[in-house]
Amino acid sequence: MNLFVANWKMHKTRAEARAFAADLGARIGNARLRVELVLAPPLTALDAALDQAGRWSLAAQNVAADASGAFTGEVSAQMLADAGCRYAIVGHSERRRLFGEDGRLLERKLARCREAGLTPIYCLGETEEERQRDATESVLTRQTETLAGDPASLPLVVAYEPVWAIGSGRAATPRDAAAARELLERLLGSRSDLRLLYGGSVTAANARELLDVSGMDGFLIGGASLDAAGFASIAGIAPAPAP
Ligand code: PEP
Repeated sequence: MNLFVANWKMHKTRAEARAFAADLGARIGNARLRVELVLAPPLTALDAALDQAGRWSLAAQNVAADASGAFTGEVSAQMLADAGCRYAIVGHSERRRLFGEDGRLLERKLARCREAGLTPIYCLGETEEERQRDATESVLTRQTETLAGDPASLPLVVAYEPVWAIGSGRAATPRDAAAARELLERLLGSRSDLRLLYGGSVTAANARELLDVSGMDGFLIGGASLDAAGFASIAGIAPAPAP
């Protein structure tokens, strides 16, 4: 089943999250979804974004590398699971770039996710400079090495997000995304339950072709996921019939 993850980043108050959830819920209605939907709101809006009917699940945008203790400001994987999260985003490029998160730290975050029963959505992707010097393959190879200690039998989501495509309005071409998928399938071939997502300037206008040509299993969506209509359209959800 294709997977569509809305990464709201540092956007939306609780009231805004509630309004989004009501809007998305009305669009889905009682329809049986043939896609899986996940919302990754800020921590303060997790409960506001929860769907009592279970039509979507929740992801945390980040997770602590430690299980508990004196780590002011951190939130543990166990706490996120307790707050209703099923997934946690690990290694988003904004965390790597702005908060200095490296492979060793991310390995610990992945391990904490597994202890708490959270499925990681592990992000990777090359920068513009790495792409220019033809280093995409070596960068993705190195970034997948972080997954070496993660049990291959457990479900895993990997999001290919070229850094230059995030928030830039310049999505990867469907062929580039397909090439990344082929590489990642090769690198992660031993995994028994792997879903590969593309992320980076996905919109309702480019989603269909990107999905069809790339063969990805869905998208991680930032800007275009802030609006329920846009998110639903990207996920291919037809409006619910009026009652
Ligand atoms: C993201 O931040 O994960 C992302 C894909 O952002 P955007 O869709 O806005 O490029």
